[in-house]
Amino acid sequence: MTDPETALRRAIIDQCRAMNANGLNQGTSGNISVRLQGRMLITPSATPYDAMTPEMIAAMPLEGAYGAWEGPLKPSTEWRFHLDILKSRPEVNAIVHTHATYCTALAIARKEIPAAHYMIAAFGGATIRCSDYATYGTAALSETALRALDGRMGCLLANHGMIALGESLDKAMWRAVELETLAKQYYLTLAIGGPVLLSDAQIAETAAGFSSYGLQEAQTEDSSASVKPPSVKPPSAKPPSAKPKKRAAKRT
Ligand SMILES: [Zn+2]
Repeated sequence: MTDPETALRRAIIDQCRAMNANGLNQGTSGNISVRLQGRMLITPSATPYDAMTPEMIAAMPLEGAYGAWEGPLKPSTEWRFHLDILKSRPEVNAIVHTHATYCTALAIARKEIPAAHYMIAAFGGATIRCSDYATYGTAALSETALRALDGRMGCLLANHGMIALGESLDKAMWRAVELETLAKQYYLTLAIGGPVLLSDAQIAETAAGFSSYGLQEAQTEDSSASVKPPSVKPPSAKPPSAKPKKRAAKRT
């Protein structure tokens, strides 16, 4: 195991502990994966984060035998959608999945998140979709999650939770915090008569602003999220209808 890989494994564990500390996740229900040199590093199944060590992170090849894994512990039961997302979305290098309370409440009500706040533009469009329901850990869940994530960097999973994507681990976790914040804001607005929604043009303008100035400035000025903002341009710089551009996968 090379030193950069050990550092990445440690970073995964650190982010697992952080998402429990900041209320984004409960227990061991969440899981995190990162792309590294043709493999996926993913948290092991049902392992308390406080007891997790770098060696326990499972490694799965992105090509070759589907579902093969290395490590002392089985990969997360949700390895299928992690693997399928990394295989089909070359711009994505990290995935955070949690049962964050407000995201999950909306997902139970089968409500997508509309353009109630401009930060939704950081997810590549004017909505955060909610997938169809499928049993956890199944290929069916992976398929419906991929559909809900088409052209987006986050989605809700019906009666289950949420998925946030990133070009790096930091950016995936940053989006996970933003997604739960959007869900909470929308939920609260529903209690006072419902939101006044932003138009597609207003979301596109926000996305263009993110492109020009970077999300870092937008975050610093207007957001109270505690997770470090990304330092490079987000995919949301594209118009909401744009498909993700294919490009070579980058190492995180
Ligand atoms: Zn789950």
